[in-house]
Amino acid sequence: MKTYKYELYHQLNIIQIGNLLDDLHSVHVHLLLLQRRYYRIYGKYASFGRICAHITKLKRRTKPHWNQLPSQVIQQVAKRIHLGYEKFFDYLADKQKGLSPRKVGKPKIKPQHRYNSLTFTQAGYEIKENRIHIKCLKKSFTFWKHRPWTGRVKRVTIKRDNVGDYSLYLVCEDSDPIEKHPLTRNEAGADFGMKTFLTLSDGIKIESPQFFKHMLNQIRSANKALSRKQKGSNAWYRAKRHPARLYKKIAQRRRDWFFKLSLRLVRRYDKIAIETLNLEGMKRLWGRKVSDLAFGEFALILQWTCAKYGKTLLKAGRWTATTKLCSNCGYHNDTLTLNDREWTCPDCGSHHDRDVNAAINILRVGVPWT
Ligand SMILES: [Zn+2]
Repeated sequence: MKTYKYELYHQLNIIQIGNLLDDLHSVHVHLLLLQRRYYRIYGKYASFGRICAHITKLKRRTKPHWNQLPSQVIQQVAKRIHLGYEKFFDYLADKQKGLSPRKVGKPKIKPQHRYNSLTFTQAGYEIKENRIHIKCLKKSFTFWKHRPWTGRVKRVTIKRDNVGDYSLYLVCEDSDPIEKHPLTRNEAGADFGMKTFLTLSDGIKIESPQFFKHMLNQIRSANKALSRKQKGSNAWYRAKRHPARLYKKIAQRRRDWFFKLSLRLVRRYDKIAIETLNLEGMKRLWGRKVSDLAFGEFALILQWTCAKYGKTLLKAGRWTATTKLCSNCGYHNDTLTLNDREWTCPDCGSHHDRDVNAAINILRVGVPWT
């Protein structure tokens, strides 16, 4: 399975997709309220099949206007709620077993402005060249086809982001063939850091372009303009998109840089080892800067690039000691603090750069990513 993303053009009739989303939101609200009532009466939740049967009944009786909406899309609304409950019950079951799973809440009713996506499975749309025809709207929409997709389209999702742009996601049945890059017999460990984004075990240091910092002034003035508007007014809604558009721009630039950087690494090394980081803890300690660096996103992109070009990604566990260990003799330096950028091993006398030493250790303890 592979997903392709295409931007829909700003076109006059695009508002109709927004209207369709609003209609689906009312279905979403109805179904979640229904689940709550069902639980109050029977003490359990209605299954997916039961909800689907109920929807058919509703269409005949009290909600004939739902017949205008594509039936598979309505089914997907129900399916999302169903999956939400399943995840919630899995969480409860894990908790009862005494495990400590990540907290999952009960499915909640989304506010209308946060109801942002709809999914077609097989019917209700038609794609020709760079246009998608949505049957229930009797309208076609043009998208920017920057690359062709391969394989059969299994699912189509249309999403609206918080800037008000719409994009199309085509989930295709095809996977990328591995394009093997020539092997170079190089290996590297990589240490993420606050000062330098990436330090490799062979001494190469890669600085982060800090996209956020460059746009900080623009973001500040956009936020200031927003705060001068009366909350909830039309001008406020217009101004709200300004900072959102800037944030989107930052995310896009960063993502682009991540892809280019990971390709550079994959071309150079056969094996790359990285550390799995405790991002939440780091965010608490360092604040905005970690979010700006987005290590987690980079790790995912690197994983994807390695898989695509037939290279290996190794990971070192979060709790493995990598910074305080001498990479030459294995001496454990407990006196090392966060401010020591360089140190000399008291046992073997070798001189270390803090990050390069950590990167060497990461490469040594790394195990293949599963
Ligand atoms: Zn040593």
